[in-house]
Amino acid sequence: MQLEFFGAAGEVTGSCHIVQVGGRELLLDCGMIQGGRDAPERNRMPFPFEASAIDAVVLSHAHIDHCGRLPLLVKRGYRGPIYTNTACAELVPILLRDSANLAVRDAERSRTEPLYDLDDVTRALELIQPIPYDIPRELLPGIKVRVRDAGHILGSSSIEVWVREGEIARKLVFSGDLGQYGTPILHDPWRFESADLVLMESTYGDRRHRGRDDTERELGAILEQAARDGGNVIVPAFAIGRSQELLYLLAKHYAEWHLARWKIFLDSPMAIAASKVYWRHPERFDEEATRLREGFRGLLPLPNLTLSETADESRAINEIRGGAIIIAGSGMANGGRVLYHLKHNLARPECHVLIVGFQAPGTLGRMLVDRAPEVRIHGETIPNKAQVHTLGGLSAHGDQADLLRWYDSFTPHPPVYIVHGEVPSGEALATELRKRGAVATMTRPGLKIDLASLPVLARDSAAP
Ligand SMILES: [Zn+2]
Repeated sequence: MQLEFFGAAGEVTGSCHIVQVGGRELLLDCGMIQGGRDAPERNRMPFPFEASAIDAVVLSHAHIDHCGRLPLLVKRGYRGPIYTNTACAELVPILLRDSANLAVRDAERSRTEPLYDLDDVTRALELIQPIPYDIPRELLPGIKVRVRDAGHILGSSSIEVWVREGEIARKLVFSGDLGQYGTPILHDPWRFESADLVLMESTYGDRRHRGRDDTERELGAILEQAARDGGNVIVPAFAIGRSQELLYLLAKHYAEWHLARWKIFLDSPMAIAASKVYWRHPERFDEEATRLREGFRGLLPLPNLTLSETADESRAINEIRGGAIIIAGSGMANGGRVLYHLKHNLARPECHVLIVGFQAPGTLGRMLVDRAPEVRIHGETIPNKAQVHTLGGLSAHGDQADLLRWYDSFTPHPPVYIVHGEVPSGEALATELRKRGAVATMTRPGLKIDLASLPVLARDSAAP
């Protein structure tokens, strides 16, 4: 029995790991590599395994860096089931169809074959088998899995994997992406008790977010300042997670922040579709969100919210010189409608740009965070005179304290393999984990772990 790392080892994107037990192969995630000039080329490379030899896939959540190469896996011969949480299964089609459209457009521009197309996505979606949280399920002989709420985005999971070969049994926990404790809308990450090995994300392993209350106050203050300046507020937002969280905070503080004076636009067909999935799953909401939603028949209480579905509706927003909060994709401003809004507003000092999520190196969003004096958009040079704010506390990812809190729920402390982080943040997390006496290892692609050689630590190594 063995665990091998293929992606998101020493970097944030491209999550992909493989568990092998008794000749069966289970893939954990099959994500897209994002950011960096060589990303398209790396996504095209052959998988370091035979796609048709994989027996099952478990998907932690719907972000493209976790699910984005599933259609490619299917295109290359995978025919097995793709298990994922029920709510995640409703979000995945939205993301994968968008990803295929982008791939086809890129291919037309570069006159190459697309990474995959909508037909590949349809075939991948047919393989999805939704599974509820908290119920163990035998996916393959010798491999049992249970998904738990990771509190990161709707339907996100941490994955418990029990492996057995003859008398030898071990329990692994794959964190998936972990949310912040006390994050709006969603429940906190599941509190595990024990494992023989933990695979842990480290996106913000070297950072402390501002406290939740501070973050909300900061957002209120930015909007107050922006109202005085009279310009627009542009928010490059990830369609799934940040957009819904931001709208939720606007609804929550609607009266207090005098938001009636703004026009609020959700300018992203994908974010609109994802918001509808969120509003369809109130059973996944925490207590505060459940209270706020009361009386609004599933929708958010935001009377001045406009959902801009069509390109014409989006273009009309470009005429607005002030008083608009425009939430538009893509989240790292490396494509999508937000580019047009940035083009129209970035050169104006009265406008504000609000960065609410992780920005990979090489993206326009990262350049804005790094205060580049000018940027290129659609071949034009645009001076960056707007006021750029980074609201770290809104991140979908837990910070170092959240990650350590999650890990501390395991007793005794299992060995940790660190994935899904740039090297400095992974190292910083490893250092903190070692202070707790944990054995923490940075992973790299191709690293293999013999699971049978792990000491048995978990009370339920043998199965739930
Ligand atoms: Zn994620």
